[in-house]
Amino acid sequence: MSEATALAVDGLAAAPGKRTTGHIGIDLGPATVQVPVILVNGARPGPRVGVTSGIHGAEYVAIAALRRVAMSLDPAELAGSLVAVPIANPAAFAARSIYLNPLDGKNLNRVFPGSPDGSASERLANWLYTRVIAPSQRYIDMHCGDMNEALTSFTGLEETGDPAVDAVALAMAEAYGLDYMVFGGLKGSTTTSAAELGIPALLGEVGGQGLWPEADVARHAGGLRRALAATGLLAAPADAPPMASRRLSGDVWLRSSATGCFHPAVTVGEHVETGQYVGEVQDVFGQVLQRVEAPVGGEVLFLVTSLAMNAGDPLLTIGA
Ligand SMILES: [Zn+2]
Repeated sequence: MSEATALAVDGLAAAPGKRTTGHIGIDLGPATVQVPVILVNGARPGPRVGVTSGIHGAEYVAIAALRRVAMSLDPAELAGSLVAVPIANPAAFAARSIYLNPLDGKNLNRVFPGSPDGSASERLANWLYTRVIAPSQRYIDMHCGDMNEALTSFTGLEETGDPAVDAVALAMAEAYGLDYMVFGGLKGSTTTSAAELGIPALLGEVGGQGLWPEADVARHAGGLRRALAATGLLAAPADAPPMASRRLSGDVWLRSSATGCFHPAVTVGEHVETGQYVGEVQDVFGQVLQRVEAPVGGEVLFLVTSLAMNAGDPLLTIGA
């Protein structure tokens, strides 16, 4: 049996059986950001698992859950290693920014694998891609509804065409055990870039609206622990089996065609029929600018809950 070896990311390293925490400075052009990294190196050999949260800086349930799990795992009991980045987009976290990185106005989860000489988000994506995603055998990206979004919990995974890769991703999703399991990729996202490398990858989504109630944090953290157990990194907790997720073959994003006030007529988790009225965008005086109907029947997975709405922004998604 081979020995566990040192785990290192840039200048940060953890010996077998040890946890190391620190910040790694990354020059993004307009600013250098300090990215917090938690390395947990198991006493025994096994898979290297990369986990990120805070790709969107105001998704607090995910951030709270990852730091809890990464700081509570016992390295002596792990077979393999964890590279956790709980606040992957520090400038967006500091600014409490929805969707976008304030350093360049881009959505970090649309520019993967990024570029070492691109804009701030592209450079950050490239660092995460080369240091966290590509060297891992398994990858999980934790999100939730953004500051302005309500959300019903789901995992997201894709079919890569490689049955061995897909079986591992499916096992992680089943172990995470959220309400829905949604199949389909998103170009430029963390998990799609991982899947393109042949790395089994999973998206996890619980909670939203800038809140981080204990029930949501515990659910995200419990799901992550079970998913990590499914990779072989640790033993599965016997007392908290996953619930069965309902499978959905994809999701449809509805977007606003107008800037104004959004008045939704549905709630998250609600089933809608094709053609059902789901809300409208009004101008400030109450005139209807856009009447929105569901193009497909399905379940409302997330829903913008801010009155403020901008043309081009998401209104809601329907999983079907
Ligand atoms: Zn997100």
